[in-house]
Parts: sequence; structure tokens; C-alpha cells
Amino acid sequence: PIGLSSRYRFSNFIKGSSNELAASAAWSVAQDPGNRFNPFFIYGGVGLGKTHLLHAIGQHIHVHRPHLRIVYQSAERFMNEFISAVRFNQFDQFRARYREQCDVLLIDDIQFIAGRDRTMDEFFHVFNALYEAEKQIVVTADRMPGDMQGMEDRLISRLNWGLVADIKAPDLETRVAILKQKADVDRIDLPDDVALHLATHVRSNVRELEGSLVRVSTFAALKNQPLSREFVSEALGVSAAPAQPAPISIESVQKVVASHFSVRIADLKGPRRHQGISRPRMIAMYLSRQLTGASFPEIGLRFGGKDHSTVINACKRIESIQSEDSELRETVAALRQLLAHEPA
Ligand code: ADP
Ligand code: MG
Repeated sequence: PIGLSSRYRFSNFIKGSSNELAASAAWSVAQDPGNRFNPFFIYGGVGLGKTHLLHAIGQHIHVHRPHLRIVYQSAERFMNEFISAVRFNQFDQFRARYREQCDVLLIDDIQFIAGRDRTMDEFFHVFNALYEAEKQIVVTADRMPGDMQGMEDRLISRLNWGLVADIKAPDLETRVAILKQKADVDRIDLPDDVALHLATHVRSNVRELEGSLVRVSTFAALKNQPLSREFVSEALGVSAAPAQPAPISIESVQKVVASHFSVRIADLKGPRRHQGISRPRMIAMYLSRQLTGASFPEIGLRFGGKDHSTVINACKRIESIQSEDSELRETVAALRQLLAHEPA
């Protein structure tokens, strides 16, 4: 089918805890389109595999049920097609393509049409027509339906009708597996320790992870050197030393976080709840947990005697915000760097 890429398959999609639900549900949808999760909505940050899964669903259906008519389209192209159909009086063709002659509709990056009233309207009607005919609809976006500003309520509500699954940033193990697969495909000789080193330092998203491997290996090839930890470190500008649990204290975490956000350490330990303080406090708790090896109750104690559940919630919050907010991710990474050089 037009627009579907065979590069993106289930067989080369690495599963991990960050994408487990989305990948399994995608597989289910591909097995039995129209009958399992309809609509199926996948959301997550950039470069985390949404488009990959969408194509994989389309490919699988195409191979196993060749009679089904599959339409894959980015929301942007959907909008452009709609506009020109209206302008050039070809609405009948547009309508046929998306409503009458479509058995599986795959729409990528739906957030794009938020705020575009006529396109949203049209998509709403397309959705209803397909849904009533029990045709499979799969939609991706960079955030969950309710978080798309400018999206019509009735559309948000429909996008929530079926299954909503998110993809988060992959954990270390998944990142290593992705690197190894990529190295395999590209015939790059990637030793285990180098893969681990790269995966430790490039954690934002899969596209960047793969890009870093290509960059580093090209660089090595140009210099006629094998890929080594040292080489990766030089190319990425990070330390080559194996990651060791540095002896970092809760006090130093509090000091570094307080100074970074220009708040007082006493405020981090205190009860005040407004954002300017509670956000730095949660980050400090999270980093304490990550870097010092202290238990939740101990951390709570050192933050003015807070309950361990407060600490657990803070860690979860920061973890989940980080998966969507690259700015926070960078802040946390910068604080880690600072702490790595801070005497305990
Ligand atoms: P998104 O659409 O979420 O921005 P993509 O689907 O375009 O992200 O993924 C970016 C790149 O990362 C693609 O090359 C894709 O194949 C790859 N990728 C993402 N997640 C995985 C995964 N779990 N396993 C293998 N490759 C992945
Ligand atoms: Mg995409």
C-alpha cells in the first residue's frame, strides 16, 4: 500500500518495559483488525517508535490479509489532501479514499490537526464512518488525547473509545538491545562494553541512539580505528570510566539541586508545596534515590521527616514527567553531571 515502509516491522521492533503494552496491543490489532482495540491510540515523545509500530501494523495486515485496503497517512498529509480536495472539487475522491475504500486507517501524528477546525471536522466524519463499518482505526500522537490543545472534545472522546497506550523512553537494557540490532543490520562491529557505554550516555530517544551509533562508527571508520569505549567517550565528550556507584550523599544532592534552582535547602526540607519549590524537592528526592542508594524512608527522613510514600510518589512523578519533557530530562542529566563531580 502507498506510503507503507517495509523497514518498520514487528520483527525488528525491540520490546521492553517502556513499550510493552503498545507493542503487544499493536500486534493484536494487526492479527485481528477491527475486532480487538478500536480505535487504537499510541502516544509518546519523539523518536520512540510510534511510526515504526504504525507501519508494522500496516505491513502485517497487508501481508496476511491482502484483500484489505490500508490507508497510511500523516495527519499533515491528510489535511493537505482534504484542503486540495475541497479547493479542486475532488471531494468525492477524497471521500471514497478515506471512507468507502478504506478498511484500515493508519493516521500518524494526529496532534497536527489540533486547532484546524475544518480538518478536525472532516476527520471526525471519517472516523465515524469507519468506526460504524467496524474498520480498524489506528492513530498516533505525541501526547494523550485529552492533552492535545485545540482538539475538539468530541474527537478526544472518540480517540479514547478504544485502547490508549503510551511509549516511554527505553530503559538501559532495551537501549542496548536496540543498538545491537542496529549494529547487526548496518554490519557495525559493536563490542558489548561499547554498546553499554553508548546506551548509558545516550538515553533520550531511539532515533538519537541509532544516530549516535552511526556517527561514532563512521568516525571510527574514518580514523581507521575499531570502536572502543575510549573512542565513544571522545566522540560523545563523556568520561570513559566504567559507571561506578559514586559515593554521593543526600546532603550534596540537596546542595546542588537547591543552588541550581535558587531555592534554600531549608525549603527543600520544608513543607511548602508551590511549584517553584515542590518541583526541585521532587527532583532532589529522585536524584537521592538514584544516586545515593538510600532507602525511601531514609530519604524521607532527610527531607524534613516526610513519609516514605511521599518520596516514592516524587520519584514516580519525576520519572514520568521526564519521559515526556525533554527539558526536565536535560536538567536532571545536568544535575547528575554536576553531582558526579561534587565531593560527597
Ligand atoms: P516516532 O514516530 O515515535 O517519533 P519512530 O517510529 O520514527 O519514532 O522511531 C525512530 C527510529 O527509532 C526509527 O528508526 C525506528 O525504527 C527506531 N525505533 C524506535 N523504537 C524502536 C524499537 N523499540 N526497536 C527498534 N527500533 C526502534
Ligand atoms: Mg513518527
